[in-house]
Amino acid sequence: MIKDITNIKIGTIWNDARGSSFKDTIESEPHLSADINLKSPITADLMVVKVKDGVIALLNELEVDIGFTCNKCNESFIKKIKIESFERQFHSHPLAKDEDSLEIFQISMKDLSIDLTEALRQEIILHFPMIPVCSEHCKGLCFKCKVNLNKKEHLKTCTYQDDSGKNTSTNSYKPFANLKELINKNNK
Ligand SMILES: [Zn+2]
Ligand SMILES: [Zn+2]
Repeated sequence: MIKDITNIKIGTIWNDARGSSFKDTIESEPHLSADINLKSPITADLMVVKVKDGVIALLNELEVDIGFTCNKCNESFIKKIKIESFERQFHSHPLAKDEDSLEIFQISMKDLSIDLTEALRQEIILHFPMIPVCSEHCKGLCFKCKVNLNKKEHLKTCTYQDDSGKNTSTNSYKPFANLKELINKNNK
């Protein structure tokens, strides 16, 4: 099992033929960047394959819990990010002009190792929700008193009632409120 993703040794396959590979599992708590609030170790299956001029690192079944702040109610919450599969290439030579430094990384030739930190950082951020919300039912904050509408305390402290709350206002529009009654009448 690999705990340190900054220094994964590839020496065992480096002098082997193309297509040679090894497998391992990752369970690591790296420091990725300030905008990724890790709440669990990153776990994944890793396969490293020798290719021309380098290796490809294939990661499968990656899972990690990330802390977010809800865009509606400002509460923090944890969401599990799952990434089925992704890969990044690592070269033994400096990048060619047409090669993208965000997609192709360097092998540390000094000790024949690769560092997955940047690849994981990119891939995890790609899987962040566009707008983080604690739940699809989140009611957000009261526009009047700014108290979290998901919490019951709000009903005691504020006169504003949202339409989805239990104590609904009397004049909200409910086109089907009388439908059931009408149907029952017609059936009699
Ligand atoms: Zn929320
Ligand atoms: Zn309120």
